[in-house]
Amino acid sequence: MIAVERDGLDRLVVTVESEPGPMGCRLCGVIAHGHGRVDVRLVDAPAFGRPVRIVWRKRRWVCPEPACEVNSFVEQDEQVAAPRGVLTARACRWAFGQIRREYARVNGIRRQLGTGWRTVWDSIKPLLQAAAEDEARFAGVAVLGVDEHVWHHVSTKPIEDGGRGPKELTGMVDLTRDVNGHTRARLLDLVPGRLGQAYKTWLTERGEDFKAGVKIATLDPFHGYKNAIDDQLDDARAVLDAFHVVKVRHEALCVRMEVRDLHRLVVAAAGLKLRAA
Ligand SMILES: [Zn+2]
Repeated sequence: MIAVERDGLDRLVVTVESEPGPMGCRLCGVIAHGHGRVDVRLVDAPAFGRPVRIVWRKRRWVCPEPACEVNSFVEQDEQVAAPRGVLTARACRWAFGQIRREYARVNGIRRQLGTGWRTVWDSIKPLLQAAAEDEARFAGVAVLGVDEHVWHHVSTKPIEDGGRGPKELTGMVDLTRDVNGHTRARLLDLVPGRLGQAYKTWLTERGEDFKAGVKIATLDPFHGYKNAIDDQLDDARAVLDAFHVVKVRHEALCVRMEVRDLHRLVVAAAGLKLRAA
C-alpha cells in the first residue's frame, strides 16, 4: 500500500503496488524487463462507511527474447482482481456474501460501492451461477420442506417484453435437524412456477440418491405438492408443516374472533419455527 486519500466524492482511494521481484515472460518464461507502470482503477469493498477505490500501479514488463511473440505484458493477480475485472476479488466476495447471507439487493450493494447496477451484476452473476450449480448443498437432506412464494404483483410477461416473468416461485427448504436437534431452515432452491409440476421436476432432477435420503416431506396445503411427493418420494412421510398448521388455525380464529391482526401474535407464539413434524 502506497497511499490512502479521500477524493472529491468522499471515497477512499487506496494506491497499491506489488512487491518488486523478478518476473518471467508469461509465454516463454525468459526473465522480463520492467517497463513502467499502468494505473488500473478498481472498485473495492466499502470501508468506514465509504466507497473505496483501489489504484493498482501495475508493473508492465517487456520480454527480451527475440523469438517470443510477447512484446509487453502487464502483471496480473487473480487474488486482487480478475483480468479486466472492475471489482476487486474482495469486493466480489463481499457483494456475494451480502446477497447470499444478508438478503441485500443489487441496488443496495451498488449504492454502498458507489458504482452502477450493471457493474455489480456482471461481476457477481458468474459467482452466483456457480453457487447455484453446486449440488453439494443437497447432500444429507432428510427433511424437505416446500412452499410457494409470490415474488411480484406486476406483469408476468417475459422480462424481454417488459414484464417480470413468472410471479410464483416454488421454494425448497432443508428442515433436517442438526446434531443438537435444532432445525435451521436452509433454502435449497427456488424455481419458477407454483404447480406440483415445478416440485416434481425439481425432485426428478435431484436424482434417486437424494430422493431416497428424504424421510419426511412437509408441504403447504396445496394439493399439487402432495401429488409430487406421492409420485416422487415413495419412502417419505408427507406432513403438513407447522407454519401452515398455525396459519390455518389463525385464519379460523380470525374468522371467529373477527380480528385481522392475530396473525403476528400466533406466529410469534409459535416461535416462527418451521417444525418438521
Ligand atoms: Zn517471452
